Amino acid sequence: MNATNFISQRLQMIKPSPSIAANDLVNKLRSEGKDIINFTIGEPDFDTPEHIIQAAIAAMRKGDTHYTNAAGTLAVRQAISEKLKRDNKLDYGTNEIICGSGGKPLIFHAFAATLDEKDEVIIHAPYWVSYPDLATLNEATPIILEGNQSNGFKLTADILTPSINEKTRWVILNYPNNPTGAVYSQKELEDLAEVLRKHPQVLIMLDEIYEFFVYDDNKHISLAQIAPDLRDRILIINGASKGYAMTGWRIGYAAGPEWLIKAMTKLISQTTTCPCSVSQAAAVAAFSGDQKPIYEMLEIYKTRREYVVNLLNQIPGLKFSPPQGAFYVFANVSELIGKTTPLGQVIQSDADLVEYLLREGGVATVGGQAYGMSPFIRLSFASSIEVIEEGCHRIRNALAELF
Ligand code: PLP
Repeated sequence: MNATNFISQRLQMIKPSPSIAANDLVNKLRSEGKDIINFTIGEPDFDTPEHIIQAAIAAMRKGDTHYTNAAGTLAVRQAISEKLKRDNKLDYGTNEIICGSGGKPLIFHAFAATLDEKDEVIIHAPYWVSYPDLATLNEATPIILEGNQSNGFKLTADILTPSINEKTRWVILNYPNNPTGAVYSQKELEDLAEVLRKHPQVLIMLDEIYEFFVYDDNKHISLAQIAPDLRDRILIINGASKGYAMTGWRIGYAAGPEWLIKAMTKLISQTTTCPCSVSQAAAVAAFSGDQKPIYEMLEIYKTRREYVVNLLNQIPGLKFSPPQGAFYVFANVSELIGKTTPLGQVIQSDADLVEYLLREGGVATVGGQAYGMSPFIRLSFASSIEVIEEGCHRIRNALAELF
C-alpha cells in the first residue's frame, strides 16, 4: 500500500514543525543515552505558578469537566477582556474575544476562516516556523519578505509597501519576535500603520505571545493601541503558554472584530468543540490572578540573557545583537560556512552546522532555514544558568575544532 496516495495534496505541501522536530530528535538521542544540551526549546522551563494549578484542581473538584461554549467560557473571556485593558490599554468585549486550544490553532482557524485559494499572506523573515505552513494548509500563498540584520530584522514601510496587492489578505507582525527578539518602537509601528491604512483589503495579525518578555529600555506596545482606526482589521493572537509558563495547558486567545471571532467560533464548533474546560478555569486564575510570577520569570530571563549574550559574544564566528525581547538568540554563522570539521566534512549550510554541533558538540540548536533565513542558528535561553554555561562551553569547543 502506498500511504501517500491517501494523504491530501494540501498536507503533502507542508512539513512537520522544524522546532518540534528538533526537540523530538533531542529526546530520541537522550533516550539512546547521549548527553545533549537542548537549546531548541521554545517554551519556559518554569513550572506553572501554584495559584493557577490550584484553580485547575478546584475546577475539577467543582465539576468543571464538561464541554464549554465553543469560544470559551464567559469567565475566561471576561478575564481576557480585563487583561487586555490592564496590560495593553485595549477595550475588547467578550463577543470580540475567543479562547482556543493555543495560539497556534487560533492562527490556523483565523486563516481557515478567511483565506481562499491564491490569497496571499505576507510574512517577514526570519519568521516563526509555523506561519508559512499554516497559510499553505489553507491554500493561500505565503509571500516571504526578507529582513535585514542591519536594522534588527524589523519590517519597515519600505519593505512592506511593494509587496501588498489586491490578493493580500493578511500581514503578520510578530513581536517580541521569535526567533530574532525584535521589539518595535512606537515610531516604527506608526510607520507600518500608515502603510496598512492605505489597504483596506488587508487583515493584520499581531502575534504578541512574548509580550511580557522585553529587556533594557524596550517596551511592548500593541499596534492596536497605536492605530485604533485599524481595529476592525486587527486580530491579536496571544495566550497563556509563554507568559504564564502554561505551554502544556493549551490555552490561547484571539481578540478582533466580532465577525471574525464569530467565524472562528463556527469553525471550532465543528472541529475541537472548545478548549479544555479545566485549562480554561486555570487560565482565569492566570489572566486575572497574581501577576507577580511573570515579573519573577522576567527577572530570571534578564539574567540568563546577559549571561548567554556575554558567553556567545566570546565565540568567534557568531554574529548577533542582544535580543530586545523573547528568549532566543538568532546568530549569523556565515563566517563558519566553508570550514571543515575534524572528520573532514565541509560545513556547507546552517543545517550542516546544527548537525555538527549536535553530533560532535552535544548541543542542539535550530538552523535558520526553519525561520526562512540562512545561514543562522537559533538558541533558546529558556534554560538554567548551568545549562546555558555548559551549552556555550560546548559550542565554543566544537567551533574551535573547525578549520
Ligand atoms: N506564536 C509564536 C511566535 C510562538 O513562538 C508560538 C510558540 O512557540 C506560538 C505563537 C504558539 O504558542 P501556543 O500555541 O502554545 O499558544
